[in-house]
Amino acid sequence: MENQAYRGHVFALPYPSQGHINPLLQFCNRLVSKGLKASLATTLYIHNTMQPQSSSSLQFDTISDGYDEGGFAQAESIHAYLNRMETIGSKTLADLIIKNKNTANPIDCIIYDPFLPRALEVAKKFGIFGAAFFTQTCAVNFIYYHVHHGLLKLPIASTPISIPGLPVLELEDMPSYISVPGSYPAYFEMVLNQFSSSDKADAVLTNTFYELDPEADSMSKVCRLLPIGPTIPSFYLDKRLENDNDYGLSLFVSDSSVCNNWLNTKPEGSVIYASFGSMACLTNKQMEELAFALKGCKFHFLWVVKASEEAKLPEKFVEEIGNKGLVVQWCSQLEVLSNKAIGCFLTHCGWNSILEALSLGVPTMGVPQWTNQTTNAKYVQDVWKVGVRAKVCENGIVEREEIEFCIKEVMKGERGKDFLEKAKKWRDLAIKAGSEGGSSDKNIDEFVSKFKTPNL
Ligand code: UDP
Repeated sequence: MENQAYRGHVFALPYPSQGHINPLLQFCNRLVSKGLKASLATTLYIHNTMQPQSSSSLQFDTISDGYDEGGFAQAESIHAYLNRMETIGSKTLADLIIKNKNTANPIDCIIYDPFLPRALEVAKKFGIFGAAFFTQTCAVNFIYYHVHHGLLKLPIASTPISIPGLPVLELEDMPSYISVPGSYPAYFEMVLNQFSSSDKADAVLTNTFYELDPEADSMSKVCRLLPIGPTIPSFYLDKRLENDNDYGLSLFVSDSSVCNNWLNTKPEGSVIYASFGSMACLTNKQMEELAFALKGCKFHFLWVVKASEEAKLPEKFVEEIGNKGLVVQWCSQLEVLSNKAIGCFLTHCGWNSILEALSLGVPTMGVPQWTNQTTNAKYVQDVWKVGVRAKVCENGIVEREEIEFCIKEVMKGERGKDFLEKAKKWRDLAIKAGSEGGSSDKNIDEFVSKFKTPNL
């Protein structure tokens, strides 16, 4: 490809959380590799906290969410944060567009997270191409789309639930905002509002790939959706561990060498990797059940326990597990999932985590907590068939016996072998989708071509 023929400047605006920044940042890197110039704006607070992972080819800019000193934690409520983010964020985004206007690289395109729909209004005001970038699965978005357009009435009156193109869903498979009416109303309004802007966007991108997400077909007809995923850098997909795995930025501090050194001493497929992503906050009881199950099972484990969750670990847990397990506050998840020692990912089923596991061929055990994770867990077990979803007791807890049972199912025996085979199949398809001429690569080229300028 004649990269020099392109010089459009895309400007990406993720929702300010790790799971939204990662895919958009990775996508921007991909656009740079296709010859575009890309910038990514985070909030000032995030910019000051993030740990850039060395030589990123992107330019980083900042907008303000109105909480420059403390970010989300400083806000009085979710509703207050989202409101201020929209108002002040839009204004500072407009300032950035103006700042770039008379430079050699004026902004040609805003790629915005549809959690921030006013970014599209700003783009339109300046006559700039506006592309929505959905960070969740087509299935989840399609459910929200149906609710937003009144095609699925709430509260759900009867189950199972039928939505064209989706498997039959029970209430527990629905995103938590629907299955638990009244929970997090501000977030629910936000996920439904995504469609108020995306219907008017010039392009709608999504971090999945056509072969994985059967709904992409039905959704693309109604939403003009362009699957461009997985956004994971190809050096993870093709090669497995390298020395310098630069992929952007992290909001938490990790020490890769500690994890790598420990994992490299373990046999292939012998380690459970447990992580609940950047936002989930487990109850003390759930942490205790996990701790006992991981300590009691017959496998090694690497467990990410964020600093904010550490106090919930049973006393002397870290001392007592010895070399059987490693507990860290954060890790480079792509590096960990790429390590041959990992045999199972015990996950909260955040979409990035699931897509990363599928794309790297790692079988999964789902312990979903909230939002879209429940729907992703349903797909893991019944659609992609790469693992199991743990059963929750009436008290809302997944108990230690169930965790141990699920771990065995994934790590051992005939079912375990089957999950691994399926996971490898998805990995191969993910690589194909992103490789030259693959379904996502073609969609990326189609997108890039909109900013192609005649030869410089
Ligand atoms: N992640 C990471 N290290 C960790 C845990 C998570 O790098 O120790 C990354 C992970 O690779 C993923 C993102 O953080 O890209 C989490 O996104 P996800 O959608 O899975 O969950 P969320 O944090 O949004 O709940």
